[in-house]
Amino acid sequence: MEMKYLSTRGKAETVESAKAILQGIAEDGGLFVPTEIPKVDAAFVQELVGLSYAERAKKILGLFLTDYTVEEIARCVEGAYGGGKFDDEAVAPVKCVGDVSVLELWHGPTSAFKDMALQLLPRLLSEALKKTGETKETLILVATSGDTGKAALAGFADVPQTKIMVFYPDGGVSDMQRLQMVTQQGGNVSVVAVKGNFDDAQTGVKEIFGDGDFASKLDGAGVRLSSANSINWGRLVPQIVYYFSAYADLVKTGTIKNGDQINFTVPTGNFGNILAGFYARQMGLPVGKLVCASNQNNVLTDFLQTGYYDKNRDFFKTISPSMDILVSSNVERMLYHTTGDAPGVRGWMEALATEGRYDAGVGMIQRFQNYFWAGWADDAKTKATIREVFEAEHYVLDTHTAVAWTVAHEYQRRTHDERPMVVVSTASPYKFSGSVLEALGEDASGSPFELLDRLEKKSGTTAPKGLASMKDARAIHEGSCEKEKMRDAVLAFAEK
Ligand SMILES: *Cc1c(COP(=O)(O)O)cnc(C)c1O
Repeated sequence: MEMKYLSTRGKAETVESAKAILQGIAEDGGLFVPTEIPKVDAAFVQELVGLSYAERAKKILGLFLTDYTVEEIARCVEGAYGGGKFDDEAVAPVKCVGDVSVLELWHGPTSAFKDMALQLLPRLLSEALKKTGETKETLILVATSGDTGKAALAGFADVPQTKIMVFYPDGGVSDMQRLQMVTQQGGNVSVVAVKGNFDDAQTGVKEIFGDGDFASKLDGAGVRLSSANSINWGRLVPQIVYYFSAYADLVKTGTIKNGDQINFTVPTGNFGNILAGFYARQMGLPVGKLVCASNQNNVLTDFLQTGYYDKNRDFFKTISPSMDILVSSNVERMLYHTTGDAPGVRGWMEALATEGRYDAGVGMIQRFQNYFWAGWADDAKTKATIREVFEAEHYVLDTHTAVAWTVAHEYQRRTHDERPMVVVSTASPYKFSGSVLEALGEDASGSPFELLDRLEKKSGTTAPKGLASMKDARAIHEGSCEKEKMRDAVLAFAEK
């Protein structure tokens, strides 16, 4: 079956996946979604059981990226997940911890789940350039508050016909996150500290994307802009794979029989990860409930319980910073798939842009609740969970995964749903050593490397190489700029 992509807002042309990935966002401001969700059966799932992660990925991506050849997909997948880039042979291993299974998505080069998609997206994009005959270079612009910047740098470094430029707020990221970015090697990368906060960096990048005159200037230099954030279909589709992979692993170990339903709890920010689980469910993977776990920025908990989305509320800086988000862009895709009503989605998104709120209605919520459940945990509960799980199981959760663990158990207590639960784990605890040590009752002061050492001693595990090796890495990118001067920095880099 030929798969095409259309916009959630209904006013852009239907395209093939290569074009959707190159464009990132549809011309009417909507997000690309598949016109139809491919269906699989129990035999398809059974076949996955005996395969490696890369082989599983090829089969699932092949259903969505029908304009890519089998060889093109194989090249992308092997480049992303092969060659020892992930420090666990299984790529996304499932661990049995207490009464749940934990799906570890942080064995990639930057120790956070963003690698699962950002190792693959650049390769899909590079193939898309070739397939569409595009001769210009693609310049990826990223504004980051920490994790995405490094994962995007690691993914795009030295990918032909691309350049990547990352802006981070000067003084606004952790020492470890800054080190990870400024030491990034590669002939096509640039990292710049913006004199301002994250909003300044993000606003600057958004303004550059919306500036037609500037785009023509770049065009003259043979460069087109694109984005690597989770509105891009090329970042979402790789994530569908690990839901299938986790299920296949549970069948393999005999934890479940093929056909049994399982639940997933997902620590959620932009709704990209959990939406991939929704696609897997709609494809026919036996998933009961997808539990959406939030931190104190619990806009999604309220939305999934009431149908009323309202971002006009206090913003909290929590110990799970990658979930500190009030506008979850991928909700738009879920609204589209639940209603099939593009004009309706357009109306809600316009209301969100102008008033910061919209009401999807009670009828919609009843439909959501067939597949979603939502809850949240504050920092105190999250820390208590890290401590309890370590004491009982000798397993260290990072702060984001601990939010999910807390909500997963609340779900089980309240609903008495006894189907097996998979808690989706999105970061290595070493990436958030300070908060994790504090939760474990340890001293959390000192350099990032002292914290790694202390957590190694406490937990009896080893810090990921990518983090520990920062100690000897050389800072390459010491540049900074005023927030008004971001365009100049982009132009200078484009012309280089
Ligand atoms: C990005 C991120 C999340 C949130 O994922 P979404 O797809 O935005 O919902 C959760 N945890 C970690 C560690 C992340 O980096």
